Amino acid sequence: MDQKQVTPMNYHHFLIIFFPIQGHINPSLQLAKNLVRNGAKVTLATTSRGLKQIKSLPTLKGLSYASFSAGQDDDESQFQKDFLRYMADLRRIGPQSLTNLVQKFSADQEPVTLLVYSMFLPWVAVVARDLQVPSAFFSNQSATVWAIYHRFFKSQDGIHGDIFSLLPIELLGLPLFSSSDIPSFLLPDNPVSGFMLPMMQEHIQVLEEDPRSFVLVNTFEELEQESIKAIANFNAISVGPLIPSAFCDGSDLTDKSFGGDLFSKSEDYIQWLDSKPKSSVIYVSFGSLAVLKKEQKEEILHALVESGRPFLWVLRSSNSEEEEEQVHKMIENGVKGDGIIVPWCSQVEVLSHQSIGCFVTHCGWNSTLESLVSEVPVVGCPQFSDQTTNAKMVEEVWGIGVRAKANGENIIERGEIKKCLDIVMGDEDRGKRMRENAGKWRGLAIEAVKEGGSTHNNLKRLLEITMMDSNPSTHSL
Ligand code: UDP
Repeated sequence: MDQKQVTPMNYHHFLIIFFPIQGHINPSLQLAKNLVRNGAKVTLATTSRGLKQIKSLPTLKGLSYASFSAGQDDDESQFQKDFLRYMADLRRIGPQSLTNLVQKFSADQEPVTLLVYSMFLPWVAVVARDLQVPSAFFSNQSATVWAIYHRFFKSQDGIHGDIFSLLPIELLGLPLFSSSDIPSFLLPDNPVSGFMLPMMQEHIQVLEEDPRSFVLVNTFEELEQESIKAIANFNAISVGPLIPSAFCDGSDLTDKSFGGDLFSKSEDYIQWLDSKPKSSVIYVSFGSLAVLKKEQKEEILHALVESGRPFLWVLRSSNSEEEEEQVHKMIENGVKGDGIIVPWCSQVEVLSHQSIGCFVTHCGWNSTLESLVSEVPVVGCPQFSDQTTNAKMVEEVWGIGVRAKANGENIIERGEIKKCLDIVMGDEDRGKRMRENAGKWRGLAIEAVKEGGSTHNNLKRLLEITMMDSNPSTHSL
């Protein structure tokens, strides 16, 4: 668009601020691409350090990138070494740096018409309010998880301190949620509660304070109808599933990856998958954050080998080289089976490969949606955060998998994993039903993103709402 020809009725400029971790980068990139395809200008922005770490970024007319300071921009290791300090610095330095960025867009005749921000960044809503720019929260977690947060944190009659007085949680149309089904940090003995509870409280508070703001959720209406209604107070709009379109609706076959990997991947696994029969391979990945204990890795490896099926396992190098070596030694010593281990892969590409028959996953929300869209049934091995809730939904609501049970030491033993694999991949009725359900959900997901589908219509509505608010002259920066 010619910058000088900005008029109130034809102009959108979405500034999407994301936190630089993989599970936030991927859906933010996809949301940006979808908005650009619908005619909007989009700038994706994150911290300077975060932007530098992303290995490749998609190029698309109408899509650009920007960064703001987190205060530790030159210290790459601070993020991992002392996360709480990093977050404190980001909150101290970030608002002014982001304000400067938004003001620069205005000065350049490209005013921001909607400031979209993701989890961990509730202060962005305050920056938007101070600059009188409309804002929207982008949830890369499910609507059901947000319905639970809402129960807990809402200012009017939320529970705040004592989660146990709220349990089991009842949500319309869904099974009861017990302590093992709710996001783990809501439980008082959880190690990250001290950080997560106030942060989530603040997210809910800033949304309550601005009734004009809304929440964009990476889900689709058919998948979480009741939960989306349960958070209607926040003007929730479903905009998912946010998956590259080559794998979802096929509308753009060149759109094959998110293009925002933080990790280096090996490339030879697709050839290996090509050599395997249809639906025979177990794909194993626990996402970008979970660090598995050594015992857990051993149990997984034994389960995979004992199941007798080929497997592709993403094992990120953890902080402990010794533990990595342990698994590789086990393999060298013959606990090998017909499998390959890679440090990272293009997950949507793998999941949509015809050879994949099951996904052993931590049930991160992106992985859950990617599995669902790829019609791959799941063995859920949730570790923390919203993964427990997602695993429950996978098993009890959508019927596309089973949730593996951990022992008293929080380890899922080989026998349990193998039993789950046999259920999901075997010939019994339960496995067959899961595969049928997976097919049904894939169909509904594709319908949702197609022209005239619920998500497609929501995106159009979003563009309409934000265009009404987009008169650059109303932004008194
Ligand atoms: N992912 C990937 N390659 C891998 C493992 C993961 O591309 O080898 C991607 C995956 O497709 C998903 C994201 O990383 O989009 C992980 O997000 P999720 O919400 O599942 O889990 P998190 O990493 O946040 O725990």
